[in-house]
Amino acid sequence: MSNSGKLIIFAAPSGAGKSSLIKKIIKDSENNLELSVSATTRLPREGETHGKDYFFITEKEFNELKSNQAFLEFAEVHGHQYGTIKSFVDEKLEEGIHVILDIDVQGFTQIQKAIIKDIISIFIIPPSLDELKKRLVLRGLDSNDVIDKRLENARKELEQAENFDYLVLNDDFNMAYNEIASIIFDKDYEYNVTNNKNILEDLLN
Ligand code: 5GP
Repeated sequence: MSNSGKLIIFAAPSGAGKSSLIKKIIKDSENNLELSVSATTRLPREGETHGKDYFFITEKEFNELKSNQAFLEFAEVHGHQYGTIKSFVDEKLEEGIHVILDIDVQGFTQIQKAIIKDIISIFIIPPSLDELKKRLVLRGLDSNDVIDKRLENARKELEQAENFDYLVLNDDFNMAYNEIASIIFDKDYEYNVTNNKNILEDLLN
């Protein structure tokens, strides 16, 4: 893959605030960053648009794309298939546009193995698992069963967080946003790895 744009990977347990942070960072980037639109077999939620939020496709279509090696990575998350479309990402990177991937940790592991030069990986940490549950209930998008499934996955995802280049705590939205903006745009940014690793350890214990 020849590229001049960077691939910026964001992962986090559901409810950690990843989507809102990504939305703001893209809005403020003045067309320098774009979000990759993934394919999924999940049904659209209210307000979601085909081609903008996701390409909503059938299992059959997903499997065809898989057999045609059309995905940069793919994974089953919370009982549905999700995949990053390779051609979509390649085209943007070749145009020099930095591409953001909003994916889960399984997808990140696959991409780590691919031959891509410039990757920045960021894992968003929630302040606590209780806070995560509160946020999932408050946003009202998912049933209790789905919320339980997402919380179960959260712990597994947090256990993989150390493999990312950066851990960013999202306790205060603006602080998390500023840290992410520095990571992406400020070459001289000095990241405090120890501080965030301690936060992660506390969360898991
Ligand atoms: P949601 O259904 O809430 O939109 O997304 C559920 C999870 O699937 C999120 O953690 C999101 O990051 C992840 N996800 C979305 N698209 C992809 C993708 O293309 N690949 C992988 N591996 N995960 C994805």
